[in-house]
Amino acid sequence: MSGQVFSCQAIVLDQRNYGEADLIVSLFSRQFGRIQTIAKSARKSKRRFVNKLEIFTLLDVFLRPPRRGLALLEEAELVNSFVHIRQNIALYAAASLLREFLLITTHEGDADPELFALTLWALARFDQGADCRVVTAQFLSRFYEHIGYRPELEHCRQCGQTMTTGPSWLFNTARGGIICPLCASDHGGQPIQPGTAKFLVSCRAAPLPRLHRLKIAEAPLVEALNILWRYGNAVLGREIVSWRLFTQLTAH
Ligand SMILES: [Zn+2]
Repeated sequence: MSGQVFSCQAIVLDQRNYGEADLIVSLFSRQFGRIQTIAKSARKSKRRFVNKLEIFTLLDVFLRPPRRGLALLEEAELVNSFVHIRQNIALYAAASLLREFLLITTHEGDADPELFALTLWALARFDQGADCRVVTAQFLSRFYEHIGYRPELEHCRQCGQTMTTGPSWLFNTARGGIICPLCASDHGGQPIQPGTAKFLVSCRAAPLPRLHRLKIAEAPLVEALNILWRYGNAVLGREIVSWRLFTQLTAH
């Protein structure tokens, strides 16, 4: 006998064909973290899951835990398909970048309602037509802190000096933070202006409902994304493969 059907809200992170007619669907759920599910006959009976199991879709899912193996995806109710993300290749590339971070860092049975809320926030902002580069910078500055890799953006990692206005501060990915002009000769890094650091700090401090209000000009945004990209590669210990396409498709 399998267990009782249970329901939860979840975002479709991945899906792939299995056997002749089934789909394996990877969900990121609010209550249970990642869940690998199997949708039996999903490719045969189109009516049952029609257009619901697309990547990035938000669903209410009804799952049956099996004695072993994958949970059975019994039913899915569409909550939001974020249709504009699908219609705009730049938005899709930005959402795919966030998805890559989630695929690497979320795990089965690891509930993370805060990360779930942040992800939903970003998908909704993309869908509403917000600048997807700004949303990505806002998402990632909170994301790194959330997974335990909060970069130091207020004081020199070497000597502790508070960041002041003026040039020649660097961001050093290996040290996980900023380096002042005096210590810069011993440490390489990417140039970072005080305004860029301040924006990134504000993004992680703001309550989620107010995050969209934080603005950034073009030059510091480019600087911020460059730092977030290099830092992400270092934190995850691998190259973030969707970043290249994201940059190409969202370049201004
Ligand atoms: Zn210093």
